[in-house]
Amino acid sequence: VTLSSTFIQRLFTLITSVENGLAGAERLNQYLRQPIEPCAGLPRSARYPTDHIKRPVGLVPRLPVDRLGKKLQVKDVWFRYSEGGPWILKDLSFVIEPGESVGVIGRTGAGKSSLFQALLHVYPVAQGEISLAGKTLAPLPELSADSVDLEEWRSQFAYITQSPTIFRGSLRENLDPFRERTDDHLREILQRVGLGDFVQGLTGQLDYDLEEAGANLSAGQKQLIATARCLLSDASVVLMDEATSAIDPNSEEAFVRATNELLADRTRLIIAHRLGTVEDCDRVLWLSGGTVKMFAPPARVLPAFLAQGQNPVAPKTPELTPPLG
Ligand code: ATP
Ligand code: MG
Repeated sequence: VTLSSTFIQRLFTLITSVENGLAGAERLNQYLRQPIEPCAGLPRSARYPTDHIKRPVGLVPRLPVDRLGKKLQVKDVWFRYSEGGPWILKDLSFVIEPGESVGVIGRTGAGKSSLFQALLHVYPVAQGEISLAGKTLAPLPELSADSVDLEEWRSQFAYITQSPTIFRGSLRENLDPFRERTDDHLREILQRVGLGDFVQGLTGQLDYDLEEAGANLSAGQKQLIATARCLLSDASVVLMDEATSAIDPNSEEAFVRATNELLADRTRLIIAHRLGTVEDCDRVLWLSGGTVKMFAPPARVLPAFLAQGQNPVAPKTPELTPPLG
C-alpha cells in the first residue's frame, strides 16, 4: 500500500510537470513567432521553424571595411516614440564627415538621446532617411547595393555609456564572447583604455568574475570596458551619451578627451553636459526642441549657446508637423 501510494503521488507530480512543460512550450512557441524588428532577419543557423525571413549566408550586402569612419547623413528625419505621440525629432537634417567628432548639446529634453535612438533604429523612423557611407537600412528581400539589413547596420555603431551591458562571467568573456582574440591582444587593449593596472591587480586577471550589470565595477570602469569593446569592434560610428547625473564633471571631460584620442579614426557623436567636454570637437550640433539650432565649430556654437542660456525667456519654437504626417 505504501509503495503504490508513493507511486501514485509521483505519477501526479509527473503529470503536473508535463502539463507545466507543455504550457511553457506553447508560450515559447508563441513567443518565437512574434514579429521581429523591421529589416531584421533570423540567423541562418536558426532551427526552429517559423515564417521569419533568414539572413542569407555571405550574400548580405555589407558596408565598406576599408576605413573605420564613415559619412553619416540624416535627411528630413521625423521621429517619435509612439504613433500619435508628440514629435521628438522634427525634420532633422545634417551630414557628418568620416572620422569627424561632433559634440551634441541642447537643453534637457531637446532630443539628444532620442537622436541616438533614431540612429540605432531602436524605434522606427517615421519619415526621412538615415544613411551611412551612402547606404540605408532596408528589409532583407529588398536589399540592394545601396542598403544593408538591421544586423549589419547596428554592427556599425558602438554605444559607450556609464552603464554598458555587462553580464555575469569573466572579464575575458565580456570583452570577447566568441573567443576570437588572444589574451595578449585583450591585455593590450585594456592597457590602452587605462585599465591595465586595474586588471593586473585582480585575482585571476582576465578570468576575474564580473557580476550581473557590472555590480563589482565603478561607473568609470564600466565606461572603460565599453571603450575597450568598441576598440575591439569594427564599429565606424561611436555614440557617447554622458549620464546627466555625472558624479564628477571633471572626469566626464577627462574621459571624453581620452576616448576621443583612442577612437580618432572613427566618426564620433558625443552628448555632453559640460561644454568643456565638446570644446575640442570638430563641430557642435546644437539641438533645440528636436530641430537643429546650429551646427558649426565649437568656437561659434558654444558662445551662442551660452548667450541663449542666460536669456530667461528663450523664444519658443513653433509646433511643427511632418509634411505627410
Ligand atoms: P537630457 O539632457 O535630459 O538627457 P535629451 O536631450 O537627451 O535630454 P531626450 O531623452 O531625447 O532628451 O528626450 C526628448 C523628449 O522625448 C522628451 O520630451 C522625453 O520626454 C521624450 N522621451 C524620451 N525617451 C522617451 C521614451 N522612451 N518614450 C517616450 N518619450 C520619450
Ligand atoms: Mg539624454
